[in-house]
Amino acid sequence: MAVQGGTASERVLADRARYVARGVAASPVVVARAEGARIWDVDGRGYVDFAGGIGCQNTGHNFPAAVAAVHEQVDRYLHQCFMVAAYEPYVDVCRRLAELSPCTGAEQRSVLVNSGAEAVENAVKIARSATGRPAVVVFDYAFHGRTLLTMTMTSKVVPYKQGFGPFAPEVYRVPAPYPYRGVSTDAALEALHHLFKADVDPAAVACVVLEAVQGEGGFIPMPADYLKELRAVCSEHGIVYVDDEVQSGIGRTGPVWAVEHAGVEPDLVVSGKSLGGGLPLAGVTGNAAIVDAVPPGGLGGTFGGNPVACAAALAVLDEVATSAFRARADAVGARVRARLEEIAARVPEVGEVRGLGSMLALELVSDPATKAPAADLVKRVAALALERGLLLVTCGLYGNVIRILVPILAEDADVDEGLDILEASLVAGSAGAS
Ligand code: PLP
Repeated sequence: MAVQGGTASERVLADRARYVARGVAASPVVVARAEGARIWDVDGRGYVDFAGGIGCQNTGHNFPAAVAAVHEQVDRYLHQCFMVAAYEPYVDVCRRLAELSPCTGAEQRSVLVNSGAEAVENAVKIARSATGRPAVVVFDYAFHGRTLLTMTMTSKVVPYKQGFGPFAPEVYRVPAPYPYRGVSTDAALEALHHLFKADVDPAAVACVVLEAVQGEGGFIPMPADYLKELRAVCSEHGIVYVDDEVQSGIGRTGPVWAVEHAGVEPDLVVSGKSLGGGLPLAGVTGNAAIVDAVPPGGLGGTFGGNPVACAAALAVLDEVATSAFRARADAVGARVRARLEEIAARVPEVGEVRGLGSMLALELVSDPATKAPAADLVKRVAALALERGLLLVTCGLYGNVIRILVPILAEDADVDEGLDILEASLVAGSAGAS
């Protein structure tokens, strides 16, 4: 029974505590509506949104072209199951993904699914089927999802893995470059070669799965020289190079795919999050010679490539492929980065400003000399920002990174207001720390 009295938010949150599983992380914000980079709660309070539902709103909340496409599709049909009756929006999304694909091969094909984790699972299935090999190589600081295979591939014990074992077999982990914490391109490559000597025969490796910019792990861009070498290692050993762009793709860093910054062609690219403009849609796209190794019936799912989600995705893909969107992403990236650099000059706890394009973050440390992670400060800053009207999300293996996923189509005034709040919260939070 609903709780009486209190604010509308309090009533919903009381029911939430009563009925929603404790394992689903809790936010104190209860949304009533959203537009662009702004959301309003059920009590009428407005927020600037630097989270975008964790990177799902590169084109902004209620992107008008996507909303219009959804309305049109809703009146035709909501669901078919593509394996039962084919429909154009699914085929059209695959065609657009082929046109925009960064992958090797003249012909590109896609499978559409419901979530990033499901897409990563399918990329591994495809790679195993194409190579006949079992092993999967992943990296420190990786995040690939919460299903059995993808949580195994993920590199953070609490909260993603603790108590959830046993894990999937044949997953091997190596360090990825993280210059701020002393892992250079050379060191990471050496570790990969060591893995092939010490732990797994490269001839048994089906795929390497890497985010072009590690997201959940701390917004760590992979250096271009590392990606080029990784590409060469994969080609040498017949390993499928899977580029997980669930968070870094769909224009987040400027080009449609972050890997394009490095001029490197993966074999498969995994998309999700902003692809559906807010509706659940993800995909695996890549070289037809690899994707088509799986026989008919081997890929799919009841809701994968839902027509309403595909209608939204077509509008999103049309937008993020334009030069105007690219220019906007570059401008937002430059604007945010300049402000973050200014903030870093004022707040000694900012250990590093980093990212690629408009996928930017601050890593906070309690002491710049030791680089000890300042997770408590990050929590405090996020709470202070929320009180001041800014929704922030954090990340990092140690929870000490503030990530900025402001919609790229946000108004400058909203971006600036959010940055003002971020700065005020950081200054207040770090003062409270001493
Ligand atoms: N891969 C990356 C790089 C992600 O950032 C995420 C989600 O944050 C996933 C995969 C999993 O996506 P989903 O939460 O849609 O399953």
